[in-house]
Parts: sequence; structure tokens; C-alpha cells
Amino acid sequence: MASSILPVAFQNKLMGYTRASNSQLMNLDLFRNIVFIIFILRYLRKTYYSLRGYGLIGSLRNVYFAIRLFLYSIFLRTPGVRGQVDKQVSTAVEGLESKLVASTAGVTKYLTLPKEGWSDDQIRAELDKLAGLDHTRWEDGRVSGAVYHGGLDLVKLQSEAFNQFGVSNPIHPDVFPGVRKMEAEVVSMVLALFNAPPDGAGVTTSGGTESILMACLGARQKAFTERGVTEPEMIIPDTAHAAFYKASNYFGIKLHRVACPAPDYKGDIAAIRRLINPNTVLLVGSAPNFPHGIVDDIPALSHLATTYKIPLHVDCCLGSFVIAHLKKAGFPSPYEEEGGFDFRLPGVTSISVDTHKYGFAPKGNSVVLYRNRVYRSYQYFIYPDWAGGVYASPLMSVGESGYINSCSEIVGAAKKFESSIKQHSVLSQNLEVIGKPMVSVVAFASKNAGIDTYDIADELSGKGWHLNALQNPAAIHVAFTVPTAAAVDQLTTDLIEAVEKQLEKAEERKRQGKSYVVKRGDTAALYGVAGSMPDKSIVSRLAEGFLDTLYKT
Ligand SMILES: *Cc1c(COP(=O)(O)O)cnc(C)c1O
Repeated sequence: MASSILPVAFQNKLMGYTRASNSQLMNLDLFRNIVFIIFILRYLRKTYYSLRGYGLIGSLRNVYFAIRLFLYSIFLRTPGVRGQVDKQVSTAVEGLESKLVASTAGVTKYLTLPKEGWSDDQIRAELDKLAGLDHTRWEDGRVSGAVYHGGLDLVKLQSEAFNQFGVSNPIHPDVFPGVRKMEAEVVSMVLALFNAPPDGAGVTTSGGTESILMACLGARQKAFTERGVTEPEMIIPDTAHAAFYKASNYFGIKLHRVACPAPDYKGDIAAIRRLINPNTVLLVGSAPNFPHGIVDDIPALSHLATTYKIPLHVDCCLGSFVIAHLKKAGFPSPYEEEGGFDFRLPGVTSISVDTHKYGFAPKGNSVVLYRNRVYRSYQYFIYPDWAGGVYASPLMSVGESGYINSCSEIVGAAKKFESSIKQHSVLSQNLEVIGKPMVSVVAFASKNAGIDTYDIADELSGKGWHLNALQNPAAIHVAFTVPTAAAVDQLTTDLIEAVEKQLEKAEERKRQGKSYVVKRGDTAALYGVAGSMPDKSIVSRLAEGFLDTLYKT
């Protein structure tokens, strides 16, 4: 009716509009439906992989933890709570600061450039003063890991090498042909140690973390280029090094962590298999891992890698030149019957090896090895570091026989320490060794409910030792090195004393009818708090405070 009053031209126009918007609407609908279906499919696919990987209960638990974490972070930000947390964090950071910075308290501070340059003698005197500051005695073997020393003669030789090549810039191989040659040969020697095939390849890096970052980046690029994977994922045993978490964060690779259950503390192979999906770009195993010194089941991982055609990285950063020489030094070598832990296994595509650990090179040198040049090509745009000191001094100076001897010394001390824990009455009754360590690290924990593992760590700190405290489960580890190996008897004696002291304290508490844990030591406090919180943001803030403290003048 209304339309009849309108001019025909206008009616036609209106009809046209209606038609147009009708078809536009239909297109929009179709588009919306397609988007919706794609969305649903993606969602279903993700849900399916999560269900297969973690099971129904595991997936529900993941959702529960995510919600709990979210709510907890809101709780931490509520006005009253926030003030409390801030106060506690700053108290703890002040404590850290006073400990770290206090050790340099008596020394003059220099916060700006001196107006006139110092004389050589002035510099020497200042360096002597700094080297002489009161510190934990690594020289007497009191520090676990950390100082992978190859002996005083080697330090001298390394200094000479620095002297000769310190100014060389490896970015110009034509100007410094000797440096390029050394670097290439370092890689070649390490490839041979880990049984690489003839077309094996590698690069040097600034440390184990960079080697691992490169392997992860390479795996991500390979999957993207060859399979178009845009949402990469990797699967690691939860004992793997923090560098893998860093890689996940830097390169946007989703991380699946798999438990390493007792009694062998190795990454759970069945759980890893369930988590594999088309987005998986890398599997990971450690030989050995840092926390417990345990070698994951590399042959089984290799089998998964070849079955599903996924790269496998083996982290031998810590194992380095010790694990490579176990057999020749007369110790059992991991999985010898099943093909070992290196490139002899067909699924292993990359290995990280820290030349600056048991290769005895100066800090700041590591190697990442690949099965062939194709794998290596995916990590390229690295800035290869200077390796002058490495070649000229440790690798050539120590030689195979030297590394076999140091392997005997280091692993021999680790085994001696392990058997003391298992055989000495006080130790065997109260402590247990975690898993079966095969290389240089021995981790142990209290099995006496009345004694807190961390209190033993604090007791040993009081005696001048610097060991590593671990969490999940609470434990302590010793990474044996050349200096620590020489101090193993003293360590055992001090450990016995520490346990006896804790036994007395436990008795005392019992007599007084006190329930356990009245006042916790430093380590117990930090890890205890960390372990009981769903959100580790406070621990992260403490760590941040610690890092800031390092640059306090
Ligand atoms: C030391 C270590 C690394 C690498 O650490 P950097 O300090 O970066 O050299 C990686 N994995 C394990 C198991 C290690 O012990």
C-alpha cells in the first residue's frame, strides 16, 4: 500500500536496495558460518589433542590450574594483599642485597670514568684486591658445578691464547684465517666425540643456553618451512634445562612438560607419545639432566622421533666431555646396548655440548651439533663467537687421554660420594640418592620425615659449601668438577656431621613435644614458600630483585 503512493522510480530504487542488501546479507551469513565452522573445528582439534595428551582428568586439571592461577593473580592484586606482598618482597630483596653487596663493602666504588687513565700498576693492584675478596672457596672444591676448571697450567695457557687472539674478529675470516680454522675444527672434534655421521654439522655459540635456543629455533623453522606449522609445540621432560622454557617464550613454541616419575626419574615415554600431534616440532631428552644427573631414555625417544618423523634434541650440555668419555674411562655408558645417547641413534637430530663445562674452555663457549647441514641451515643467522682460546688451549692441550683421566677423576668422585650415601650408616638411614646417576651429578634427599632436606643444605652452607637446592621434589645436588672431586672426602665427612646435627635437632623437638618445623632456614623458607604457592609470581619477583642486585654498585 505504502509503496503505491511512492514514485515508481523510487520504488525501483528501493527494490534494488532490498535485493542488494539481501544478497549481501546472504554472503555475510555464509561467511559467518564458515568462520564459525573453522573456529569450531580448530577448537575441537585442540580439545582432541589435549584429551589425547593429558586424558580427561589431566585436561580438567589443566583447566582448573589455569583458573586457579587467574583467580590467585587477581587476589594478589587486591589492595590489602598487594601491600602485604610488596612489603614481604622488598624485605626479602633487601636481605639478598645486604648479603651480596656487603661482600664488596670495604672496597672503593668507581661510578664514573676516572678523569685520567690509571697506570698499569694501579690496575693490577685493584684487580688483586677484587680477586682477594672474601668468597665461597671454589678453589678448595666447595662449590658444586660452576667452576669447570682444567687445572692451573691450562689457565696459564688459555691466558696466552687470549693474549695472541684477543683482538681477532671472527667476522672477517679472511683477516683472521687461523680463528676460522680453529672454530671449524672445534666443531669437528665435538662432532666426532658424539658419533656424528660424515655429513654432521655444527656451530659454536656463547653457551649452552644459546645452543639450546638455536636447536629449538631451527626445529621451529624447519617445521614451518617443510610442513607449514604455524602453531609449534615441543615436548620436554620437566627436568629439562630452563633454556627450553626460554626458547618456548622467545620463539612462541608451546611447551608440554612431561613428568619424570620415581623410581628412575626419566621423562615418561608413554606420556610423551600421547602428546605428539601435527604441531609438534621437537622432542627433547637430557644426557644427563641438571637437577638429578639422570639420563633420559634416549633410545625410546629416538624411536618416537623416527616413527613420527619429528626432530629430537639431546641436551649434553652438562654431560659434555665427561659423558663422551665414560666408556673409555672404564665406566658404564648409558644405553650402550641400545645404541647409546648420541648420533648413533637414528632419531637424534641435534645435540648441545658445553665446551665451557667439562671441555674446560673459558666461560662463554658451547657447540650445537646437527645430524646434517640441512638441520643446521634452519638456525642460521647466528653470530659465531670467537673460539680462539678453546682450540689453542684446552681441546688440543688436554687431548683424548687428558679428558679420559678427568672423566675418571670426576665420575670416580661422584660414584664414591653416591656409595658413601648408600653405605655409611648415618647417611643411608636418613638420605636417599635420586635415581641412578651415571655421570657427574649426584642428587639426594632426606627420607627421614623428621629432617628437612633444605635444613641439611643450610647446615652445609654454614660449613662453607655451595651446593644446589632443587624443588619438586625437594633435594640437593652436587655437580662434581675437578676441584670438587679433590674435596669429596671432606664433603662426605661434613655431610655426615650435618645429618647428625639435624638428627639431634629433631630429637630435641620431639622431647619438647613440638611439631616439626618451628623456624625454617633460608633455603627451606624460600623453597617452602615457592612450593606452596599456586602462583610463582612472588618467586619471580624475588628472582627479579636478585638480578637487580647483581648490578648494584
Ligand atoms: C649448564 C647446562 C645448560 C646450559 O647452561 P649455560 O649456562 O647457558 O651454559 C643446559 N643444560 C644443562 C643440563 C646444563 O647443565
